[in-house]
Amino acid sequence: VRHELEAQRDDEAVTTDGRKITLSANIELVDELPYVKNSGARGVGLYRTEFLLLKGEQMPGEEQQAEIYANLAKALAPEPLIIRTLDSGGDKLPVEPPSEPEPNPFLGWRGIRVSLDRPAMFKEQLRAILRASAHGKVAVMFPLVSGIREVRQARALLRECMEELAVEGVPFDDQLETGVMIEVPSAAVIADLIAPEVDFFSIGTNDLIQYTVAVDRVNHHVASLYRPTHPAVIRLIKQTIDAGSAHGVWTGVCGEMAGDIRLTPLLLGLGVEELSVGPHQVPRVRRAIRALSYAECAAMADEAVKNPVSLDILELSTDLARKYY
Ligand code: PEP
Ligand code: MG
Repeated sequence: VRHELEAQRDDEAVTTDGRKITLSANIELVDELPYVKNSGARGVGLYRTEFLLLKGEQMPGEEQQAEIYANLAKALAPEPLIIRTLDSGGDKLPVEPPSEPEPNPFLGWRGIRVSLDRPAMFKEQLRAILRASAHGKVAVMFPLVSGIREVRQARALLRECMEELAVEGVPFDDQLETGVMIEVPSAAVIADLIAPEVDFFSIGTNDLIQYTVAVDRVNHHVASLYRPTHPAVIRLIKQTIDAGSAHGVWTGVCGEMAGDIRLTPLLLGLGVEELSVGPHQVPRVRRAIRALSYAECAAMADEAVKNPVSLDILELSTDLARKYY
């Protein structure tokens, strides 16, 4: 089966009724690039740069980051590389040793909060990303955004970096797309207010689910309550997609949910335009997309959003999946 799936890697991720989906890959390390290439993914939809912290205690400087990002961008061109700025903290590696342990790390100093508190470090990363954008199709996105102020501050720093590079005569793509992760419920609720300020949304379902249903994503005692198809989660996803499309902003999903082929009918039906999954999941998700009719998925999703029971919603999607693959 594996060989069969790999043989199909040049096939487009398109539904039987012609809706094209951008199917891209999530990576944490540069070493994963060959797997991305081999999977036939359309570029990288999520590069988790906090894994650069694995190599040392500190984030590498601008030069080193610029080289890493540029090499990736070149290797993927003309396909896109979406670089997520540092998402340290929570259950991930900290950018600096905590002076005292945080009582609730998932509600604490992580994601964009850290970057905005450390503007010098953040600007090094933004400058490195911009420099790489001269070598391929690079986009930038910000993790754990909870409100508009963070989006504006991050974008202001990005603009500052663009102005500096322009003065220095360093090339970059001034059309580079800017997006935000939608993974905090407050951001999903005000997606219509955020949309005018960005080019795309990428829904981080791993965090969106845990924050919506108040279930720690790494605590096995409450794992049975962690339900991707909880009606509240589905509503937030739908609301985000609808708010985006009203403003010409495309929406993707890059959390684990995107790689679960039982849920491909539901996500497609809700109107998702991009799915970013682990490289090894790309062939299976591609096959699922190619087997489905968007019209049928949309009709099912219309029913699903009215259903109050998460297991029923899962079943509606799974039934359609089983019918075709
Ligand atoms: C997510 O939260 O769904 C996501 C993709 O980000 P991470 O898993 O890195 O927190
Ligand atoms: Mg996340």
